[in-house]
Amino acid sequence: MFTADNVPRAAEDPLFGLMAAYKKDTFDKKVDLGIGAYRDDNAKPWVLPVVKKVGLVLLTAGVDVANSDIQADDLLRKDPDLNHEYLPIAGLAEFTTASQKLVLGADSPAVREKRVISIQTVSGTGAVHLGGAFLSKFLPQPTPAIYMSSPTWANHNQIFTNVRLPIKSYPYFSSETKMLDFEGMISTLSSAPKGSIILLHACAHNPTGVDPTQDQWMKIAEVVKAGSHFPFFDCAYQGFASGDLAKDAWAVRYFVEQGFELCVAQSYAKNFGLYGERAGAFHFVTAPGPDAQDTVSRIASQLAILQRSEISNPPAYGARIASMILNDENLFKEWERDLKTMSGRIIEMRKAFRDKLEEFQTPGTWNHITNQIGMFSFTGLTEKQVGILKEKWHIYMTKNGRISMAGLNTHNVAYVAESVSATVK
Ligand code: PMP
Repeated sequence: MFTADNVPRAAEDPLFGLMAAYKKDTFDKKVDLGIGAYRDDNAKPWVLPVVKKVGLVLLTAGVDVANSDIQADDLLRKDPDLNHEYLPIAGLAEFTTASQKLVLGADSPAVREKRVISIQTVSGTGAVHLGGAFLSKFLPQPTPAIYMSSPTWANHNQIFTNVRLPIKSYPYFSSETKMLDFEGMISTLSSAPKGSIILLHACAHNPTGVDPTQDQWMKIAEVVKAGSHFPFFDCAYQGFASGDLAKDAWAVRYFVEQGFELCVAQSYAKNFGLYGERAGAFHFVTAPGPDAQDTVSRIASQLAILQRSEISNPPAYGARIASMILNDENLFKEWERDLKTMSGRIIEMRKAFRDKLEEFQTPGTWNHITNQIGMFSFTGLTEKQVGILKEKWHIYMTKNGRISMAGLNTHNVAYVAESVSATVK
């Protein structure tokens, strides 16, 4: 019998604990390097100008715009048919089609040959979960393990454990070089049992900020193919990492060109700044062949059942915003400029942080700060140093020494570098 008394207390999510401690801190120079969301140079959340423009239109669903105090000039387009009805189970079709092209490339052989099934999800987390639930349901017995990088986004472990996939890991980060442990990764993937699932971060690896080079990706693809493994890409930072949408999707597109059957979990939280709107998609790409389209329709039917039982249908607002931008040439260009603003500021902060650390003659090497990419950087700071930075300097980061580059800005970068320098010395 179920009894509430038998439910043990779960450990607090370490990030939420960190956020609470930061909020309570009254020191005026405190710095939050834990956050996983973009901040502008004044440490404020940033609504992308292109999203603001489009979002305003959509917020007027059901509103008599002419008789409201909304400035009609601010509206890009008024859609009298807009309402709050349910989306279809698979989501907004124009959104999923555009999302497919965005990540795989408009000229992708898989798109051309209609070998992709795409379904709108509750952001990237929902896409990772849907993929996990789907694989768990249809994998042969005994269920192969999913191999994930060590370390990886903490939620990967929880999500795949929840859908009862056996979890294994492959080496990824070398604490010596603070770059990729390529040999370790290749060696583990080469000896993984045939038919394993290999979870890969498409770009801007979280939490390390370390990505394989294109040559390394080619070798990874070779090993994954030799082991008949199934690649599962988590793509949460396309365009946000380098500012170039194609470059950040290079690995996914390369694997598709190599004829893999694979899946992609896509998030629009970071690249559109749509964190709370939960816009994302799950794509399943079937291998080329005469049966590809039949496979696509069978998989689509099963994904629809899973989706129906879990969320019925996905949320509309964020997907409408993304869809309007993805499907309009001018808005798309504006979005690319916004992506450059975000990624450019982060890249500048990497340079400034490294320069300052070197200027203060901080012991150790700091080239990894600029070699790493995306939202996060694995600094190499020890748990003890992280503790000192928090207690003495009011600088907050996760215990593993990961910092969110978005938390740095022109006003605090020198203070953070000085504090790190003093702590390391
Ligand atoms: N995967 C990775 C690697 C991430 O870093 C994130 C965001 N922290 C996600 C997936 C999903 O985020 P969301 O559900 O907000 O789209």
